[in-house]
Amino acid sequence: PTPLGPTPKLVIDLERMQQLPQEKAGPLARYVATIQSQRGDYNGRVLSIRQEDLRSLAVIYDRSPGDLTEELISWGVLDPEARRAVDAF
Ligand code: C2E
Ligand code: C2E
Ligand code: C2E
Repeated sequence: PTPLGPTPKLVIDLERMQQLPQEKAGPLARYVATIQSQRGDYNGRVLSIRQEDLRSLAVIYDRSPGDLTEELISWGVLDPEARRAVDAF
């Protein structure tokens, strides 16, 4: 293990996501809704997603995973700790 500890999880803040304007959060919200439906996990305040899902979201948003991560952090949807998860790609 590194001094910083294990790779952090990618945890989406669902309450924050719902406060964002539709033109920003729309694709993310649809992706998250699909995962919730697949898991049957509808009642959480947050949703942990797979690292590979961030790659897929980056394609959807036409950004690099690093750039999308910065955007999601600036929106308050991801914790700044998530940067280390993307560094591990
Ligand atoms: P699957 O990938 O075949 O996973 C089957 C089951 O294995 C999941 O059922 C879950 O109980 C467990 N599982 C697989 N990977 C993980 C993991 O990284 N962490 C944890 N905690 N459990 C894991 P579940 O949750 O009912 O999901 C059913 C199917 O829905 C999954 O089948 C997958 O196809 C899809 N799915 C669910 N969540 C995600 C997600 O976050 N991202 C993606 N890409 N697909 C997901
Ligand atoms: P954690 O991963 O740090 O998650 C802390 C709390 O955030 C969880 O408490 C839950 O209230 C919420 N949370 C995180 N990710 C999700 C999500 O994808 N959906 C929903 N609905 N809520 C989420 P909780 O459930 O009491 O779990 C406490 C700890 O137990 C978790 O800490 C984790 O370390 C472990 N845990 C719970 N479920 C699983 C699981 O399916 N797989 C693994 N590997 N660990 C789990
Ligand atoms: P987690 O459950 O603590 O799992 C951490 C990592 O362990 C996952 O990172 C993945 O690399 C590995 N892992 C755990 N369970 C499985 C499994 O059944 N099959 C495989 N191939 N790998 C597994 P990852 O993929 O980045 O997922 C991060 C977190 O997202 C998971 O933390 C869990 O909270 C959530 N998650 C991902 N996929 C699913 C899923 O299908 N169902 C549910 N309920 N949660 C999931």
